[in-house]
Amino acid sequence: MIFMKKEKRNSQSDIMESIISLCKRRGFIYQGSEIYGGLAGTWDYGPYGLALKNNIKNLWWKRFVDDRDDMYGMDAAILMNQKAWQASGHVGGFSDPLVECSKCKHRFREDQLESQQQRSDPKTGGPKVRSLSCPDCGGALGPARQFNMMFKTTVGAVESEDSISYLRPETAQGMFVNFKNIIDSFHPKLPFGMAQIGKAFRNEIAPRDFLFRAREFEQMEVEYFIRPEEWEKQFDIWEKIRMDWCLEIGLPKDKIHIREHAKEELSHYSKRTTDIEFDYPFGQKELYGLAYRTDFDLKAHSSTSGVDLSYFDEETKERFIPHVIEPSVGVDRTVLAVLSSAYVEDEMGGEKRIYLKFAPAIAPVKVAVFPLLKNKPELVKKAREIYALLKKEFNSSTSLGAGAVEFDDNGNIGKRYRRQDEIGTPYCVTIDFDTLEKGAGVTVRDRDSGKQERVGEGELVKYISGKIG
Ligand code: ATP
Repeated sequence: MIFMKKEKRNSQSDIMESIISLCKRRGFIYQGSEIYGGLAGTWDYGPYGLALKNNIKNLWWKRFVDDRDDMYGMDAAILMNQKAWQASGHVGGFSDPLVECSKCKHRFREDQLESQQQRSDPKTGGPKVRSLSCPDCGGALGPARQFNMMFKTTVGAVESEDSISYLRPETAQGMFVNFKNIIDSFHPKLPFGMAQIGKAFRNEIAPRDFLFRAREFEQMEVEYFIRPEEWEKQFDIWEKIRMDWCLEIGLPKDKIHIREHAKEELSHYSKRTTDIEFDYPFGQKELYGLAYRTDFDLKAHSSTSGVDLSYFDEETKERFIPHVIEPSVGVDRTVLAVLSSAYVEDEMGGEKRIYLKFAPAIAPVKVAVFPLLKNKPELVKKAREIYALLKKEFNSSTSLGAGAVEFDDNGNIGKRYRRQDEIGTPYCVTIDFDTLEKGAGVTVRDRDSGKQERVGEGELVKYISGKIG
């Protein structure tokens, strides 16, 4: 009999700690450079974390690129000519206000300090008067100064002004600078989009909250080129696509909120932005952005590079610079949102258990196969056969990281279930004596309910396919 009960927790931060510890224990995510004491704002993905992340990326690529006829995939270089970042406004303006404590020297992002500070008068731009102090030691905070968040580097053996480059802080610009290439190679008709998945780097002043604010992370971005008069219609279409995506990866509707940016907080390139915010264990914060970037980027690159980035409409014989709608999706924030909404603690068979309730489409392992006993060769042989059968069928549906089908004969069956629950495997298949002696099929256990069903061997592949989609 299954008995489920939610355990009382001290606080949401306990839950965050439990998720981080599960991620380490079970091989999802480790602190970057851990044996050297870490490197703040970096995280290393282990086999299950990588499989989860790859499943999310593959599903995004399928929905946003492969399933459509109007998308062009890209994989642009991370390092770009510094002029690209001057044109985009990042060299001049991609900065956050940094404040330093005069006593402990800890640094904070002024706009993120939870304290009630008295802000400067925007009219006079005068120095900020702080009524509150350092959240760590109570010391006085110095004046805010702008801190550019791009990682600067030099390219080649000679260090000079000309050799400066930056690790890209967003994938978007790699697509804008290739706009003409796509037009010349494919002659697409508006509206059409360019899509890219890749790393982005930001020298965040205060990385925090696990994967939420990292210094190295991944983005999945679309730049969707449109006629300017269509922007409102296209914005609404992309809001719907984005919401469908959130639901498909299993995020609960009641934890997703759409927030409209106020005029004062819009980025320099944006006329309208709405964020999807998510209820993480540490509060409601940004998950994704959707921005109407107008023709800002193409215009800027056109005038800085001297290359014509206009579009010629064959039907209307008009030449103009297309406008852009940009849905921007952070991969790591998606992983975190998925992990924190999938994390469940309950009681089963009188024992506490933890499980990850992943949507089967993104679960790192879809099916685990066990022989009931490890020391009975006939059970192990049969289990190996079934494992090979399922592996052949389902392994291609996942990518590098962990196989979609696992074989496990370690410890007792309860222990194996617990391990699979903790990595979020939706189904476990057990081969027992009835399988061999009575041809009674195998048992298939459901992760969420713990219920077991007997399924005929010949039906197994169809049964599992039906469940995991
Ligand atoms: P925030 O206000 O939280 O700093 P942002 O508005 O600067 O974020 P965008 O520039 O819109 O973020 O970046 C697009 C997406 O990239 C975000 O919606 C988020 O999913 C992801 N992202 C941005 N910064 C980080 C980061 N430091 N760590 C992890 N993901 C990030």
